[in-house]
Amino acid sequence: MTQDPYIALAGVRKGYRVGGEAIPIFSALDLAIPRGDFVAVMGPSGSGKSTLLNMLAGIDVPDAGSLSIGNHRLDRMGEARSTWRAHNMGIVFQFYNLLPMLNAAENVELPLLLKPLSARERRDRVGKMLDLVGLSGREKQYPSMMSGGQQQRVGVARAIVSDPGLLLCDEPTGDLDRKSADEVLEILSFLNRQLEKTIVMVTHDPQAARSAKRTLHLDKGQFVEEKRAAS
Ligand code: ADP
Repeated sequence: MTQDPYIALAGVRKGYRVGGEAIPIFSALDLAIPRGDFVAVMGPSGSGKSTLLNMLAGIDVPDAGSLSIGNHRLDRMGEARSTWRAHNMGIVFQFYNLLPMLNAAENVELPLLLKPLSARERRDRVGKMLDLVGLSGREKQYPSMMSGGQQQRVGVARAIVSDPGLLLCDEPTGDLDRKSADEVLEILSFLNRQLEKTIVMVTHDPQAARSAKRTLHLDKGQFVEEKRAAS
């Protein structure tokens, strides 16, 4: 028996209108990602990587075609998408998107405020996540006191604190030096291999792409899978 892919796009059409002019981005995009995959998405600027991530995140919707995640049709979900997103996916941003007036623990705790958990349960879970990203002991530090790499690790802890099945990463190493980037990539690999998170990561960084199980190149509205030498 074949299993349905975890993420499935079929015949997705998407474009924008700017001043009456139609800008097509995808005319018939298909994509199948099984549960537990770690996919890097690369492609030239303007090829539609952000548009794709926004559709996967349910921030934007296809003009036509279907988009399902875990057998839920995001394109038909309407207003319920934002609640669904909060419970089913975590997002890691290029520039971390931490709230500067909150310390590391408070930033990580934010998604848990939507859950029926006690303060103690929230604190325990936040502690475990900060430990997992190598930041235990830094609970009380504010983003302005942290390096970019540390801030991004807080961002990863916040993305997984609700235990979502899917992680969407938008250029997660784009603002980091090589060493910090590699530390973040190691954490993402761990989350994929050990905690079975499905990861879709947009990146320009070939080293980051090598951390993924496969790389899809987006060009002229279609995906081309990169062939890899067996390692
Ligand atoms: P990438 O992330 O690969 O650089 P994007 O998804 O940001 O590509 O953009 C793809 C194309 O869609 C570009 O030509 C961009 O100018 C256009 N575009 C993206 N978002 C909008 C929008 N909100 N309104 C109009 N055009 C947009």
